[in-house]
Amino acid sequence: MKKQRGVTVWFTGLSGAGKSTIAQALEAQLRQLGYGLEVLDGDIVRTNLTKGLGFSRADRDENIRRIGFVSHLLTRNGVIVLVSAISPYREIRDEVRDRIDDFVEVYVDAPLQVCENRDVKGLYKRARAGEIKQFTGIDDPYEPPLSPEVHCHTDRESVEESVVKVLAKLETLGYIQLAATPVG
Ligand code: ADP
Repeated sequence: MKKQRGVTVWFTGLSGAGKSTIAQALEAQLRQLGYGLEVLDGDIVRTNLTKGLGFSRADRDENIRRIGFVSHLLTRNGVIVLVSAISPYREIRDEVRDRIDDFVEVYVDAPLQVCENRDVKGLYKRARAGEIKQFTGIDDPYEPPLSPEVHCHTDRESVEESVVKVLAKLETLGYIQLAATPVG
């Protein structure tokens, strides 16, 4: 593993916006470049670390606080952490940002209609049918970031374009090096 600076790359956005897809593609690129990283995917985290939490504001905040805590520990030990979680509330995202010095927020943005048409997991259909309550974008709020480091528009950008944007920002901020430095 290369000697590296830790950083938390935090993907926020509606369900189906493309957070996990972009994070996975980014993971593959970073591994190829030789970086050590950890992925904390919201859906997976909710089956272990934050199991039992629901979708009230308090539970959503607690979910994010715990993910943020683990990200903080990893980041300060030189790990690149890719977090994908809807994280709908600005205040708790900013709280996590304040705690983790090295924090890059990626707003994965697609109109609700696009996410709903994709309906990757069939959840929008169930939310519209009233089978799932407190579903972000339907009957629960989403507060977009005001100044994210990266803003991906997945309704009009390819996954590759979004990944390149994140990689470029990580390089600009000094977390990774994309091109090998010429020797001599
Ligand atoms: P989230 O993690 O935000 O809930 P997912 O990554 O699970 O979203 O699902 C996003 C879906 O949208 C995937 O099926 C993905 O293939 C599709 N998709 C289409 N275009 C894009 C794009 N430009 N960026 C990311 N995902 C996209």
